[in-house]
Amino acid sequence: MKRQVKVGKIYIGGGAPVSVQSMTNTPTLDYAKTLEQIQRLESAGCDIVRLAISSDEEVQSCRQIIGKTKAPLVADIQFNYRHAIACADIGFDKIRFNPGYLDSEDKVKEVVTACKRNGVPIRVGVNSGSLDKEVTAKYDGAEALAQSALKHIAILEKFGFYDNVISVKSSDVRTMVKAYEILDEKCDYPLHLGVTESGSKLRGAVKSSVGIGALLLKGIGDTIRVSLTGDPVSEVETAKMILGSLDLYREGVEIVSCPTCSRCEYDMENIVDTLENSLKGVKKRVKVAVMGCVVNGPGEAKGADIALCGGGKGKTALYVKGQVVKTIDQSDAVKEILLLIDKL
Ligand code: SF4
Repeated sequence: MKRQVKVGKIYIGGGAPVSVQSMTNTPTLDYAKTLEQIQRLESAGCDIVRLAISSDEEVQSCRQIIGKTKAPLVADIQFNYRHAIACADIGFDKIRFNPGYLDSEDKVKEVVTACKRNGVPIRVGVNSGSLDKEVTAKYDGAEALAQSALKHIAILEKFGFYDNVISVKSSDVRTMVKAYEILDEKCDYPLHLGVTESGSKLRGAVKSSVGIGALLLKGIGDTIRVSLTGDPVSEVETAKMILGSLDLYREGVEIVSCPTCSRCEYDMENIVDTLENSLKGVKKRVKVAVMGCVVNGPGEAKGADIALCGGGKGKTALYVKGQVVKTIDQSDAVKEILLLIDKL
């Protein structure tokens, strides 16, 4: 079991549910736009939101955001230790910061003191594009990622700071998986999983699912972030689907549907697409099966709360808890399912 770290109201590690994270991509200086994006992320189911902080002005801008969100907020600091201290003091719930980037351990000590004073944990986040040169002289690939993270952690531990989370992200899935496996063996800090720079919506979702999913299946990982180019709400939707597919997500509708073939005689694709869009924000844990015909339909319906199973031109049988309740026209299918979900 990993150590547990508290980020605002969310626990990471120590048996807590795997949480979903994302990051804003609005200008942090534009606090109104950033707050609006954080609220959209929260509504989509994001547990923790990170903001990039690169200037004193951005720290000040965040004063207008802190306290107005339900999701805990993480300050992403690159090199300026004063920003880390200020963010811990103004109410950020976690700092992402690599102490090995600082030129003096006195500065690290000041950051650690501010984090201890405010009960704020630190995430050490190493990416394959920003590895420590001393480490890469000795190691490469996954070992370099893991050793680089452990080097940053050792500096924090020197100052008695153990409230840490670690990430070791790579855009190469095999490297990322191996690096997390090494860390899982070597330390008991909770792990933040992610495939970095994974790409556009579809490519990034596939790469992230393979990398993050491979680790979660082995019981490795305490919080996840899917990195996609574009609107971060898509990251949250993908992360929830990854967790849902492994039964690790505690809420939301799961839709099972067959690929269809010539035996399907109703407009199933349109029904599935409409359901996926309409049910995005629903928090109830419900399983819906949408199936083309009786070959596999009744079997899937047995394991679902609500199911459709094609039965003739433009018609489908509607199942509730494995029992057929009626035959309906395809044009009524979405409406009937939404009503049933409401009643469940
Ligand atoms: S359930 Fe029926 S329609 Fe769907 S793929 Fe199987 S055989 Fe084809």
